[in-house]
Amino acid sequence: MSVEESNLRCTACEREAEHVVVYAGRFVSQIQCTGCGAVTRLDVSEAYLPDLRQRISSKPRRLLRRLRRDPGELASSLPMSTLSKPARMAGEFRAVWRSRRGG
Ligand SMILES: [Zn+2]
Repeated sequence: MSVEESNLRCTACEREAEHVVVYAGRFVSQIQCTGCGAVTRLDVSEAYLPDLRQRISSKPRRLLRRLRRDPGELASSLPMSTLSKPARMAGEFRAVWRSRRGG
């Protein structure tokens, strides 16, 4: 997960304002307007999970099913060697999982 700030037009307050943009991998998962505080969550799981599947394509299907149930838990239990950046991946999983639940 990475965070960037960029100047966007807010869909809630309709002003140009700094927005905090949260990425899960290559995908935007959350945008927050720093002007009015409105949070837009995007469900990136449909795009993210197939992408992730490619990134860990050597893993068995069983692992991917587990991933769908609780990505955060899985991320924290994966061995260091599986992912090059485990902490970052765990953050991505959490962002994606939140986007699923929050709608
Ligand atoms: Zn706003």
